[in-house]
Amino acid sequence: MSAETPLLKVTDLAVHFRRRGGLPPLRAVDGVSLDVMPGETVGLVGESGSGKTTIGRAILGLDRPVAGSIRFDDRDITDATPSERRRLSTELQVVFQDPYSSLDPRRTVYQTLSEPLIVHQRMSKSESAAQVATALERVGLPHNAASNYPAAFSGGQRQRIAIARALMLSPRVVICDEVASALDLSIQAQVLNLLRTLQAEFAIGYLFISHDIAVVRYMSHRIVVLYQGEVMEVGPASLITATPAHPYTRALLSAAPVPDPVRQARLRSEREKTIRSNVSIDEKGPGCPFAPRCPYALDICRSVRPELDIDPRGTTVACHRHLDLDLAHVGTAGAVPAAAQGDDVRRARLRTGRSRSEQQH
Ligand code: SF4
Repeated sequence: MSAETPLLKVTDLAVHFRRRGGLPPLRAVDGVSLDVMPGETVGLVGESGSGKTTIGRAILGLDRPVAGSIRFDDRDITDATPSERRRLSTELQVVFQDPYSSLDPRRTVYQTLSEPLIVHQRMSKSESAAQVATALERVGLPHNAASNYPAAFSGGQRQRIAIARALMLSPRVVICDEVASALDLSIQAQVLNLLRTLQAEFAIGYLFISHDIAVVRYMSHRIVVLYQGEVMEVGPASLITATPAHPYTRALLSAAPVPDPVRQARLRSEREKTIRSNVSIDEKGPGCPFAPRCPYALDICRSVRPELDIDPRGTTVACHRHLDLDLAHVGTAGAVPAAAQGDDVRRARLRTGRSRSEQQH
């Protein structure tokens, strides 16, 4: 595999769910394409119901696609058998949102972390104990944590254990599904920074799923914005957040917390103007899925589905009006997670606030 070949490549993925009562299928994901390169974080962001978790589940083989393909390391895994999935689990792992339910309360940390080593690598107890100690150290937990049960740990510590478990077999891609959402702000920052440190050390590719665009911005090299199961905008994280070309991306950014209360109030009022009403995914018509909520909608928006098109500002966007709308005036330099602290974040803010001409060079 060349350095340019994505580790994970999703092409035109569609996942539909059957419903009772003669209702048409729920089109949870429709025609989504994305890829993850080695050592890259691709953020998948959208509101609840946008299909982001379903995409993660389809990649893991937990939901079955009705169309499209999923390739890992250039191998088609769309319809991988259970035994192929077991082998794949050494290279493709997941960390879920809830550290309280994702760990078995009846198993010690050693039992949880050593299981993949014993199952996949047939390690002896002494070998696996040494590996577990290394894994705990890597995520900032003491060696003696191995003999304790999950109940002995805080939420942040449990998420560290879940991350250690995901990394036990040195995976090449980890799907992080709302990994920080259930944690306090200060603990969020620790977990996010831990994931970044581990990525720098082991060149892991992350598919980072979150409803919070500020967290996604902090973590990601590229961002895919999803709405009702479809891609609205995709591009480098710095451009998506500094010069959004899609009204929905702009609405998400307006909802992100910023440190200045006056500015926050202005952004909230702008967001309320933008998002007039919510609309069910079942009501999708032939046009732009965002049209019922979009203040810029024209007649064509309600009748013709916009295709993804390259925007001169550097992103790829599905909007009929992306060339005549300038949405960057919203300003997003403050759209970083309130939890994140330190120089990395200050640098991220500075990068986000660069001028458009600087970003294009
Ligand atoms: Fe709004 Fe039309 Fe663009 Fe959809 S295509 S986001 S309705 S302007």
